[in-house]
Amino acid sequence: MILEKYDVAIIGGGSAGLAALKQLSKLGKQAILLEAGTKVGSKNISGGILYSKKPKKGKVTNVDDLYENFLDDAPYERKITKYILHSTSKDKEYSMDLTEAHDYQANFGCSVLMNKLNSWFANQAVESAEKIGGGIIPGVHVKSITWYEGKTIIQTDELEEFEVKAIIAADGVNSEVAEMVGARSKFTPTQLYQGVKVIVKLPEEVIDERFGIGPEEGAAHLFAGDITLNHIGGGFLYTNRDTLSLGAVYHYDSLIRNPVEPYGLIDALIRNPLVSEFVKDVVPIKKEIDKSLPQEEQLRIRFGVAKLIKTWKEFRETSLSPNGRKSLIDSGKYKTNEGIQEKLSTIEKQMSEKFDVTFGEDYVESEYGAKLVPDGKRCRMEKPFFKNILFIGDAAGRGVFVGPRIEGLNVGIDDGVRAANAVARSLDKDDFSEIYMGQYYTQLVEESPYTLDMKQIDKDYLKIFLDATKDVPKDIIGSRYGPILKMMSSGTFRGIAVKFANILGYDKLLPMIESEDTYVKVPIQLAERLGVTVSSTYSPSIPSIADRIAKLSYNDDHESHIKVLNSDSEFMKKIVTLCPAKCYSEEGGKVVIQHEGCVDCGTCSQETEWKHPRGEKGIHYQYG
Ligand SMILES: Cc1cc2nc3c(=O)[nH]c(=O)nc-3n(C[C@H](O)[C@H](O)[C@H](O)COP(=O)(O)OP(=O)(O)OC[C@H]3O[C@@H](n4cnc5c(N)ncnc54)[C@H](O)[C@@H]3O)c2cc1C
Ligand code: SF4
Repeated sequence: MILEKYDVAIIGGGSAGLAALKQLSKLGKQAILLEAGTKVGSKNISGGILYSKKPKKGKVTNVDDLYENFLDDAPYERKITKYILHSTSKDKEYSMDLTEAHDYQANFGCSVLMNKLNSWFANQAVESAEKIGGGIIPGVHVKSITWYEGKTIIQTDELEEFEVKAIIAADGVNSEVAEMVGARSKFTPTQLYQGVKVIVKLPEEVIDERFGIGPEEGAAHLFAGDITLNHIGGGFLYTNRDTLSLGAVYHYDSLIRNPVEPYGLIDALIRNPLVSEFVKDVVPIKKEIDKSLPQEEQLRIRFGVAKLIKTWKEFRETSLSPNGRKSLIDSGKYKTNEGIQEKLSTIEKQMSEKFDVTFGEDYVESEYGAKLVPDGKRCRMEKPFFKNILFIGDAAGRGVFVGPRIEGLNVGIDDGVRAANAVARSLDKDDFSEIYMGQYYTQLVEESPYTLDMKQIDKDYLKIFLDATKDVPKDIIGSRYGPILKMMSSGTFRGIAVKFANILGYDKLLPMIESEDTYVKVPIQLAERLGVTVSSTYSPSIPSIADRIAKLSYNDDHESHIKVLNSDSEFMKKIVTLCPAKCYSEEGGKVVIQHEGCVDCGTCSQETEWKHPRGEKGIHYQYG
């Protein structure tokens, strides 16, 4: 049989895989990218702040180097200009301004939503890729890679098998490629975080006002303390243009030790009065329909109210955005902003006069999602290749996560470029051997400043962080952080302490830095001793997990992609609690799965036979 042939296959169309495609096409090399989602972007989820960095040593390729029109044309949300860490305890909170830490070695950091952003990256990459016979094939799930008589064959669930010279594996944290070829074992809970996130709808100008930011600015708020429910990790709240990203990222092993429902961690955040106030919005409250009315009349009212509320929501959102108002005026329907405001008041009057609708305050959630995140400090692949496959981004376990420093997107983009450069060199020489391609790529990755950040504490970053804590009473730090961190908090000894810490090595230092003390106890003490009291004007109605899942968009795969291996295992019993979509239950002491509603997060993959759903199947995020 004659097989279709391509030079390079990139498996996975997240930001890392798309960067590899873009770079290969810049270099004039043919590559096809295979993505399981129906559309690029629909399977990806992040927090997320995407950074463009300027490391003091070494070079990286930033998003705005690779996509030169990024700052002018890309659908990023807001440039983050304010970065605040909050310590919480019940209704008390203490804030520290970490904007300097966010600005550290950064050209900028902007909030992003992956569905929109990855679609844009795909459009940028595909134009040049198609000119040289490559491109993107969405809706395709790669199921096997084999080597036969010197040929590398890729099989998918959807296409005829085909041959390639080299592969870039960008298939994310739950990389099936890594597992199927035996390049690495599955990441373990100690090497992972679990991330859960919701999107909150809020009009653009309400965000500006509430967060004290201008139209071109953005705010990031991080949370630690009692909102962690005694786990190692914390919450985040990022402003997008007209939504908020609210999420929780926790060390997976901390969740295993003390299982808690992932949505419970989000709910704890929402219930915190500071967060409740950040996320609240005006909501219409419908009056109960009089059940004694004829059925037809009841239906007419129900339909009329729903239609008017929908009109109100859309009009209000448009009227609270400068671009929205401009488009209304440009359309000729309204002459002035006052005219737009008048129309909104008219709709509101109609709602109350015709249907007795009143207005209150509540929290409006648009999307729920979850995914594992690799902790680059603990799981970066030291040999990120296998035969003629190079691993990049989350698939290679790469990401810089140190305290408030959360960087996976920029690392994956830089990896994508490095892998593309290594593959292009091999195409020129027609040599895809481990020595010529794999080892060369490893060398490129080792030279990356991000790799150093995954191995060592950066003392300049630490200094900025510790300077931000200068008002914190030393007895809190002293009693909790131990002698090394106490020394680090003293300007005189910091240099020596950091050197000593680096000699100790990350492995010994990490349990001290990433502990219940730093994420839970110290923040609680800070809030209680130095914090201010915050109150909220309403009690948010938090959706149940069933409501959250029901709102998501799925193309259900009737073939389950997950098989429980041991239904008696203690680990799987914990997964009953830890699955963010509540797919598992325990029946008669046995763990069983109902895969509908699965968000492909990978939390259960450790002790299951786990695959991504087939092409076009499974979860489809609208925001991501
Ligand atoms: C809650 C949360 C918050 C985060 N916050 C931040 C942040 O603020 N800043 C930051 O920089 N990073 C953040 N991260 C990390 C960041 O989102 C990831 O590092 C990044 O998205 C990984 O990109 P990737 O391209 O490597 O993988 P992914 O985005 O996971 O892409 C992998 C792609 O491969 C496809 N795929 C998988 N298997 C197959 C197959 N067999 N065949 C075909 N296609 C396949 C998938 O459908 C998917 O589209 C956060 C992550 C989470 C979950
Ligand atoms: S079934 Fe597994 S992969 Fe799916 S949502 Fe639950 S834990 Fe995540």
